[in-house]
This record gives sequence, C-alpha cells and structure tokens, in this order.
Amino acid sequence: MIDRSAMYIDGAWTSGSTATIAVENPATEEVIGVVANGTAADADRAVRAARNAFPGWAATSRAERAHFLSKLHEGLEKRAQAIAEVIATDVGTPMRIASRIQAALPLTDIRSYIDLLDEEEAEETIGNSLVVREPAGVVAAITPWNYPLHQIACKIAPALAAGCTVVVKPSEVAPLAVYLLFDAIHDADFPPGVVNLISGYGPVIGEALVSHPEVDVVSFTGSVRGGARVAELASRSIKRVTLELGGKSANVILDDADFATAVKVGVANAFLNAGQTCTAWTRMLVPVDRHEEVVELAKAAAESFSPGDPLDPKTKIGPLVSRSQRDQVRDFIRKGIEGGARLVTGGLDAPDGSDRGYFVRPTVFADVEPNSEIAQEEIFGPVLSIIPYEDEAQALDIANNSSFGLHGAVWSSDQGRALAFARQVRTGQIDINGGAFNPLAPFGGYKKSGVGRELGRLGLDEFLETKSIQL
Ligand code: NAD
Repeated sequence: MIDRSAMYIDGAWTSGSTATIAVENPATEEVIGVVANGTAADADRAVRAARNAFPGWAATSRAERAHFLSKLHEGLEKRAQAIAEVIATDVGTPMRIASRIQAALPLTDIRSYIDLLDEEEAEETIGNSLVVREPAGVVAAITPWNYPLHQIACKIAPALAAGCTVVVKPSEVAPLAVYLLFDAIHDADFPPGVVNLISGYGPVIGEALVSHPEVDVVSFTGSVRGGARVAELASRSIKRVTLELGGKSANVILDDADFATAVKVGVANAFLNAGQTCTAWTRMLVPVDRHEEVVELAKAAAESFSPGDPLDPKTKIGPLVSRSQRDQVRDFIRKGIEGGARLVTGGLDAPDGSDRGYFVRPTVFADVEPNSEIAQEEIFGPVLSIIPYEDEAQALDIANNSSFGLHGAVWSSDQGRALAFARQVRTGQIDINGGAFNPLAPFGGYKKSGVGRELGRLGLDEFLETKSIQL
C-alpha cells in the first residue's frame, strides 16, 4: 500500500488533515494507495507559502530559473520508469503509452521552457512606451487524471519560468505519479513555497484555492462542468483564468485520402489511453459512398485493440480509470444502440476474459446521426462514431456542429485542399494527414473547449502581466 498522505507545502512534506482518499488500480479493483483528503485550511497554508515565496522567486534571473527547471528535469528523467509504472497502475494506461507519453511528455514540456529561458527577453517599445512583462503572481493549477503529469508540467514549467509561484491541486483520481514529481521538485531544492502540492476533492480544496484572495491566476484543466464553476468563482475576485476543457474532435477523411492509413491512425487516436484523451478524434467523417469500406477497415483496426493488463508490454488498451467512468461510458454505448446507430464492434458486455477491472470493449458505431447524443457528448471512453457525409461542404458543417472546438484531423492527398479545409474548422488544433504533435505549438480550445493556450511561448504568456512605461 502506497501512503502518500502528506502534502508538499513550503518546501516540506507535511501532514495536515488526517483523512485520506483511497486510490484504486482500475485493472484489479484493488486499493493500492492513499492520498490526503485536504481541507480549506490546507489550501490556505499552501497559498500563503506561495505568496511569501513570490517576491523572491519573481526577482530571480532567467538563468537561475532555468537552473532549477534543469534540476527538476534531471530528477524526473531519473524517475521516468517508476512514473510510467505508477501511471500504468493507477490510470490504467498501457506501459508502452505510459512510457512514451505519460512519462516522456512532461520532460519535453519542461525542456521547452528551459530552452525558452535561454533566449533573450525581448522588450518592446511602442511610441513613447516601454512595454515590459512581469510575473503575474500566485498560480493555482488544478488538473485532471488522464495525463496526470503532462497536465501539471505544462502549467508549472511556464509558471515557474515566468517567475510565478504555484499551488498544484491534482485530481483525487489516479494521483500517485504526482508525488514522484514532487519528490523531484524537493530534490531540485526550489526555495520553500515556490511550488506546493495539496490534495483533496475539487469542491472542497479546489474551490478554496480558486476563491482565495491571494491567488492571482487560475489554470484549470478538466471537465466543462468543473471549468464553469471555477470560472464563476474566480470571476468574483477578478482572477485571470485559463481553461482547458473537453473535446469531441472530428477526423475528416476527404475522398482523395489514403483511406487505409487515415482509418487506422484515426481508430488508434480515438482509443488512445482507452479514449480518455481530451483531443481524441471520436467522430470519423467519411464520404457516404465509401462508408461501408471504412466500416470494414475500422472494425478490423478496433478489433486489434483487445483490452488487457496495462503492465503487459504488448497491451494496447487498458481499463477505464474508475467504476463510475466505466459505467458512464457503458451508458453512452447503450444510448447509441437505443438511438439507432449501427453497432459495428464492441458493445455493452465486458471484454472476453475480464472478470474484474473496469474494462470496456473498444466500440465502433456506424451510420451515426451528427446530432445524436453519441456524436455530441464527450464520452471519454473507447467509442468511435462513423458519420457519413454527402460532400465537402457538408463534411465541414458536421465537423463544426459541436459545442467543443479542441482538436481534429483532415486527410487528403492534396495538401492545399486539406489546408483550406483545416482553416475553416473551428478548433484550436488540427492535424493534416497525421501531422505530428508539436510541443511548442499553442494548445487550447475554441467554444466550450476552453479559454487561453498552453505550451510554447503562448503558454508562458498566460503567466505574465504586461506593463507600459511611458518615457
Ligand atoms: P473534472 O473537472 O472532474 O476534474 C478536474 C480537476 O478539477 C480535478 O482536480 C478536480 O478535483 C477539480 N475540480 C472538480 N470540481 C471542482 C470545483 N468545483 N472547483 C475546483 N476544482 C474542481 O475533470 P476530470 O474528470 O478529472 O477530467 C476529465 C476532463 O478533463 C474531460 O472533460 C477532458 O476532456 C478534460 N481534459 C481536457 C484537457 C485539455 O487540455 N483541454 C486535457 C485533459 C483532460
């Protein structure tokens, strides 16, 4: 049993509340650890530590901040294998993805800000004004469970690089890897109070953080419901808020695309981390006269994802993170079937051979109606909807027929045609013909997918204030 019931406040592991929250292994349903069930008083202690540390940290040079981030990078790199194993055990991410994404991406995030700090800081002159950028203050970073370290790294790395101090409130679901990150933070010898970790439920310590008068910036990643509540509370004291929320991304396969590749990559994308990925391409839009061909390709691709033990290096898809997540996903599958979509593969039954664990059969629906619930709601599980379209104009209408606008894809043998299409899709990111993830490119959403951008230079801007000095 892993006991991580201490919180990291003011440079030390401290116990506050004695109540704990159990952490489960979703593949076995066993309790594997505990974390603290913190209170508003714990949030207050952490915010005060961050406030006290702010003037000193804000006054450090870019080189000093780069030095601390480099030490953190080193400590995290040393722990990469342990991080992958922990995330395979509490999120249920298969090892091959846990190593390549869950453990590796936070290193890329941190490295990108070390590199940015290495560059000269450009100060702009506009007419008789010198425009300078200053750290925005104390940051509350509230994060979900699906990519637990990446989501924290892409907040704390730019916040610390900007000269802000931080209180991190990770998800109470699958939080264990976060403690390895904070072991590395401790070893990196950051000045006390610069980075703090509290643990507990969102409506208790999350709300206490967001409402705290000494917090200047709230950076939230999670559900639309959580984000709306956070924005509402933060607005009362006029805090700056960044929201990274859900998605229902369209993967648009145009008629001149390489269908075999587009469908194979599209299915793998939809099922990444058992579909618990905000950017997942969960709607596959295909020309109506190629629909049956796509259904066959998607069925074969989906059936190659047989759920298994996340610690087995051959496993491509693990369980969902929790019982409630599994039940919600099954509810959507039921609604899909009852709503008349054609079930191509997968369905409601537990996968063969799984008598325990929160496993769901990788599921594909065809002939999905664009306004149906399964085509509109973020399911957050391995459920793909194939939607036929008549022509390119209708494909664009369907792609944009969503309250979300986070990500997407377009496939065509004509790059110019794909680019013209991509420009018209109302999302913060879109990949052409499987274009690779770029950790320096701004990441964020249109519409209900959020406000603000993370990663790269724009990610840094979220933590800087701008001052004009008239000369
Ligand atoms: P969630 O909203 O339930 O929880 C996210 C975090 O917010 C947790 O730390 C939680 O404790 C906290 N929280 C919940 N209610 C709160 C409240 N009232 N006040 C303050 N904090 C509160 O989301 P989740 O289930 O953990 O994560 C899944 C969601 O996250 C999905 O919708 C997914 O699309 C989204 N997500 C978005 C991105 C992105 O970058 N756009 C990335 C990953 C996940």
